[in-house]
Amino acid sequence: MTGRISEVFDSVQGEGIFLGEKQLFVRFHGCNLNCSFCDTKQDNFKEYQAHELLEEIKSYHDDYHSISFTGGEPLLQKDFLKELLFYTSCYGFKNYLETNGTLVDELEEVIDLVDFVAMDLKFPTSICQDKPLWQEHHDFLKVASRKQVFLKSVICRSTKVEDLEISLDLIKKINKAAILVLQPNYYEEDILTDKLEKFKKICLNNQVAACVIPQMHKVVGVK
Ligand code: SF4
Repeated sequence: MTGRISEVFDSVQGEGIFLGEKQLFVRFHGCNLNCSFCDTKQDNFKEYQAHELLEEIKSYHDDYHSISFTGGEPLLQKDFLKELLFYTSCYGFKNYLETNGTLVDELEEVIDLVDFVAMDLKFPTSICQDKPLWQEHHDFLKVASRKQVFLKSVICRSTKVEDLEISLDLIKKINKAAILVLQPNYYEEDILTDKLEKFKKICLNNQVAACVIPQMHKVVGVK
């Protein structure tokens, strides 16, 4: 079986609670969503067998916190991902899955091989999509909570507080310990300070741990 991979590179994690950790990134090609703020390049990919990709991963010699399987949406290539996660875990790597939090059946098949889950909560008023994904996120978080999971929501000018309130109910119901990272839309960061402070306060009032973390790799100009 082959997988479609956009790029493999090493860098530091620029988002979320593992900010600054050195990781090897494996970017999967293709996504099932179409977020308005998406800037992931999806023009090229290379096809790999899982064992070939393992060899490439092993050729990077460094002491990584984990391997970040990112996208796109890695779970769209569930069978290939599962084989690769098996190889990397056998080889002693920690597996870090970055996902948009919508493909629960696929997650169910790989969760035993994953160490960390960085899960998006897509607010409908942030991604400018008509169909909310709350049910998908609800089911996904239940399965992801078997491992160390944190949640990440991009906050835009258009984001409404109602979406945050629905998210907080969902987190409180399924995994009260999960941290919610509020991530300002990089292209609108300058005008979002008041909104982010207000949102963080609402989280704390709901006893949900939250923090504001921008996309630091873009701020400092690393990949
Ligand atoms: S889930 Fe991520 S990769 Fe997919 S469209 Fe949204 S921002 Fe882009």
